[in-house]
Amino acid sequence: MSAGGSQTVLVVEDEASISSFISLYLKNSGYEVRSAATGAEAIQQLQAGSISLILLDLMLPDVDGIDLARRLRQKWDVPILMLTARDEDVDKIIGLEVGADDYMTKPFNPRELVARVKAILRRSAPERREREEKVMRHGDLVIDAGRREVRVGETEVQLAPKEFDLLWELLDHKGLVLTRDQLLERVWGYTFAGDTRTVDVHVRQLRRKLGEASPIVTVWGVGYKVAPSKESVGA
Ligand code: CA
Repeated sequence: MSAGGSQTVLVVEDEASISSFISLYLKNSGYEVRSAATGAEAIQQLQAGSISLILLDLMLPDVDGIDLARRLRQKWDVPILMLTARDEDVDKIIGLEVGADDYMTKPFNPRELVARVKAILRRSAPERREREEKVMRHGDLVIDAGRREVRVGETEVQLAPKEFDLLWELLDHKGLVLTRDQLLERVWGYTFAGDTRTVDVHVRQLRRKLGEASPIVTVWGVGYKVAPSKESVGA
């Protein structure tokens, strides 16, 4: 069996040269590839079914990539890796507005792109199953892995998929400091030193969404940890 099995990646990119370049690398890594040059074509392809991952360019002729990603997210539970030429879009892409699983800034190294596609696909399904029926608490914060639900007191907080995974990983290692590279490896599945800014952006989003209930502590020069909560001591 090839590395990618029969998984299909949908490449949504209007620039034909970039699209065929990406497709070539993905096919060589064992993936089936379908392509779409517009948002409308992307939706048609998804309706046709069996897409495992969407590689989505932010700049498309008929629709804004962020709007499209938001629409796709509402209807399909397929991981999204966004491609962007602008660094300033990163917060939007992986934050509240879109909740993409990952992003890459153009120009990118095609081998790294393939590595990220593999990482997202490897991490998306089995990991979540292992955590079914597990619930963790930290003060007012309740995180339910089976339902992928986070609450502060009685209020549900909407987290992007990787925000959820990152929060879970930190809570699961309560009291231990995890470096940005360790978090990239555990949450995003990178086995190389990657762009650690991804981790910082997600931590910032988690703090914004959870407010005072955020348990995440920055350990300067090292990484992040969750401090033991007073309420849970001896509980
Ligand atoms: Ca484009």
